[in-house]
Amino acid sequence: MALTFDDGPTQYTPAILRSLEAHHAVATFFVIGPHVLLRPGVVRREQRDGDAIGDHTVTHPHLTAVPSARILSELEGAARDIALVTGHRPTLLRPPFGAYDARVSAVARRAGLAVVMWSLDPRDWKRTTPRAIEQRVINHVRPGDIVDLHDRYARTPKALPLILTGLTGRGYTFVTVPQLFTGSGGTQPGTVYHHGPRV
Ligand SMILES: [Zn+2]
Repeated sequence: MALTFDDGPTQYTPAILRSLEAHHAVATFFVIGPHVLLRPGVVRREQRDGDAIGDHTVTHPHLTAVPSARILSELEGAARDIALVTGHRPTLLRPPFGAYDARVSAVARRAGLAVVMWSLDPRDWKRTTPRAIEQRVINHVRPGDIVDLHDRYARTPKALPLILTGLTGRGYTFVTVPQLFTGSGGTQPGTVYHHGPRV
């Protein structure tokens, strides 16, 4: 299964990375362009750890509500910032708010980005406790899941060690989104993915 973290890097990201490193787990970070430029060292640490880094736009708009030219500049702007810091252009997009349609997918295809949604939302964005976040993962997880978490809240790094320990005990291993699809031919630009193969 694949853990994903949106909206970073932030002040909370180093604690997330410490937990992942301690459990020898990797994840996928969907980063915001200006945040990448503000904390390039954190993004390079993600890269060193073997985490995948995806595009989460420049200004975090509802992409379905802006003109196509703006969609492209949002995707390309963040892709440039990521490439500047990591040396690699991203191949994955997480649309802000999960808002996508045929037009967003078409622009993502032009930008070389697969659209990565999720199959499990532990709702760390709600006012909730780390234990409740962990329980929502443990109670609903299936092999191949893509889990949507955020770098944005103090409760998420507190929930992460519980999630990693609980899922490891149930036999799960943690891979990046690209690794989730290596056995099925990889991800294609413009295609929308909600989960990996249900092995
Ligand atoms: Zn977001």
